[in-house]
Amino acid sequence: MNRGLLIVLSGPSGVGKGTVCAALRRKMPELIYSVSATTRAPRAGEVDGVNYFFKTKEQFLDMIARDALLEHAEYVGNYYGTPREFVEKTLSEGKDIILEIEVQGALKVKEKFPEGVFVFLLPPSLGELESRIVGRGTESKDKIDHRLSVAVEEMNLLNKYDYAVFNDEIDLACGRIQAIITAEHCKRERI
Ligand code: 5GP
Repeated sequence: MNRGLLIVLSGPSGVGKGTVCAALRRKMPELIYSVSATTRAPRAGEVDGVNYFFKTKEQFLDMIARDALLEHAEYVGNYYGTPREFVEKTLSEGKDIILEIEVQGALKVKEKFPEGVFVFLLPPSLGELESRIVGRGTESKDKIDHRLSVAVEEMNLLNKYDYAVFNDEIDLACGRIQAIITAEHCKRERI
């Protein structure tokens, strides 16, 4: 059996990774989603085990110590990480899995899974990115400023990725990612 594809959807904060990933999952229900662990507090409507596995800092550090995470990163004062076992099991079952993670974590995954498919989501413009981060309205000015400066640095990592996808419209962005997944399967097809 062929192994599944490891697809990493990344890009700067506020570019719309979460929204595009959710839309893609609705269009491709067969695509398995990797639920991350985080120490950040749940936002309104977020459910443990669905959006994230919400952990205390101690629990998260214990996961790191047990090597239970494929990668982890500290982002704006919180830890985020990808549970390792679920990813490996899904791939060995021949199923595709998508990770929606920030850029530092994505680069760590690339070191371990160079055969993965690394997709960088781009905002239509930097001004648009700024208004998306501000418009989210869930955070203090300090946190927004920090997210903005991180986002500008993150844009410079684009050249480490296999594909760049503009998030001008969600449906268009999803269509481009679906085309990438189809092409990657065709590339690996063997008789
Ligand atoms: P948020 O707090 O807005 O849900 O996520 C903040 C950032 O963390 C986003 O860029 C999101 O993609 C990223 N993120 C979510 N899960 C993970 C993960 O498991 N690992 C890494 N490295 N980043 C993650």
